[in-house]
Amino acid sequence: MKRPGFVEAAEVERGVNVPQSYRLVRRDARAERTVVRLRSGATFGGDEIAICAGPCGVESREQLEQAARGVAESGANVLRGGAYKPRTSPYSFQGLGEEALKMLRSAGDQYGLGVVTEVLDPRDVEKVTQYADMLQIGTRNMQNFALLREVGEARMPVLLKRGLSATVQEWLLAAEYILLGGNDNVVLCERGVRSFDVATRNLLDIAVVPLLEEMTHLPVIVDPSHAMGIARLVPPIAIASLAAGAHGLLIEVHPDPPNALSDGAQSLDCAQFEQLMRRLAPVAEFVGRRLPKRQATAGTNRNARPSMQ
Ligand code: PEP
Ligand code: MN
Repeated sequence: MKRPGFVEAAEVERGVNVPQSYRLVRRDARAERTVVRLRSGATFGGDEIAICAGPCGVESREQLEQAARGVAESGANVLRGGAYKPRTSPYSFQGLGEEALKMLRSAGDQYGLGVVTEVLDPRDVEKVTQYADMLQIGTRNMQNFALLREVGEARMPVLLKRGLSATVQEWLLAAEYILLGGNDNVVLCERGVRSFDVATRNLLDIAVVPLLEEMTHLPVIVDPSHAMGIARLVPPIAIASLAAGAHGLLIEVHPDPPNALSDGAQSLDCAQFEQLMRRLAPVAEFVGRRLPKRQATAGTNRNARPSMQ
């Protein structure tokens, strides 16, 4: 007998009544939209836009320090950087692991930035939560259900990137796994999907920004860097993303992009990032939001937690 309100797995498979299976993420599951707040104070989903910026991968203390100082001075409020890199080739730079996590924590504390970093393996979730403020689930892991379950049990916000060729339905159901595990603090990140056209690295589906605003109470941000794959195309698309209503941006910034160990071609340098932030300010205002306050005292954050060396 069919239970009222209960969606059979077979119906979900066939796409029947699928909206009912987004029990927890659907817009009308909550009276208010979700605002995700990091320990550092950065918020996603409120009036303040979240600006996550930093290198693709943490390569050295010096590289991270330069990037963190640059993005903090320009007004970013979250430092990004990969410690564990999901590389297509096993011979490419794989990340510095826990050493990089320590560097991220100390740079984040020094410059008053939250820290978001990718976790690839369910066995690393506990370790990464000791250093980060937000766990990134990368595009290649959007349907790694063991990992989704593990971060669902973590008491830390999650940035869930859209899978390489995931439908909106698959993406929302991936978020549903995390909420079902007890973790309500999920931010969705559109980063472009695979397309027939390789003129840009991926095809940015900007339409999902207003679409998801209707479908879910979760905040949505855009990563124009991985979508475009070409640094000079990042600023106009970052602007378009905020204009479309994105609650934040994820931008790759490297102090020396030509010598980056990963994703140099799509990385802005610190001066280009500064220029982009200036261009974003009026766009934020236009959509009734604001950029994070610049850290007047970047580098001398009095509230810094003791750094974990
Ligand atoms: C990244 O953020 O550096 C990354 C690997 O992103 P994605 O999972 O979107 O490819
Ligand atoms: Mn990258």
